[in-house]
Amino acid sequence: AIRTSGLVRRFGDRDVLKNLDLTVPQGEFTALLGRSGSGKSTLLRAVARLDHTVEGSGELSVPDRVSLSFQDSRLLPWLRVLDNVVLGLRGPGARERGLTALAEVGLEGRDRSWPHELSGGEQQRAALARALVRDPELLLADEPFGALDALTRIRMHDLLRELYERHRPAVLLVTHDVDEAVELADRVLVLEDGLISVDLRIDLPSPRSRREPRFQEYRDTL
Ligand code: ATP
Ligand code: MG
Repeated sequence: AIRTSGLVRRFGDRDVLKNLDLTVPQGEFTALLGRSGSGKSTLLRAVARLDHTVEGSGELSVPDRVSLSFQDSRLLPWLRVLDNVVLGLRGPGARERGLTALAEVGLEGRDRSWPHELSGGEQQRAALARALVRDPELLLADEPFGALDALTRIRMHDLLRELYERHRPAVLLVTHDVDEAVELADRVLVLEDGLISVDLRIDLPSPRSRREPRFQEYRDTL
């Protein structure tokens, strides 16, 4: 679960997060929407405790097993793809699990490639495999599907939702795609002017079809 209260983040004289409260219960899939520059990545970094300059009465409570998937994948260039995926994992089964995760994101056979040999979308998928192989209690994902083509994106949506239903981590997924948010998440937040301006519960069965009338209803609300 994520429990934060009173997060404040300033850049110069700009308040990007203004006393923001955010709670994501264990097992809840939450999507975070917001215009470019609204502070989504800033909020995610704060939640991941990567930003130690968050001011105010900011209180953070997050679990220990956190996985992150960044907007710009951040594979380490000096490690092969599989070594990136299993980095820091221990135990005899780690490499096997890494290979399975790579196969799940459609990167079978690319384990010995270097990151620069992968396309942008392939790097994003490798980053997602790295996040998922850790079986996290909390998955923080910053536009993990940004660089993917439409077909691969649909496959990755299905895969993420499937893995979510199997392991039930808390998820905070940053996206600027309203359809993606409604399709994947059980709750959609909008970040605007440094605060959460919309907090919408999505009550749709899974797997979800965009043709459902209620889907359109939610989409129009957002
Ligand atoms: P996008 O959808 O484009 O990824 P975002 O919602 O993730 O946008 P952030 O990256 O969180 O936006 O940035 C929020 C605001 O904070 C932006 O106006 C950005 O210019 C500013 N900002 C972020 N990081 C820094 C920094 N290190 N120094 C100065 N300003 C910053
Ligand atoms: Mg961002």
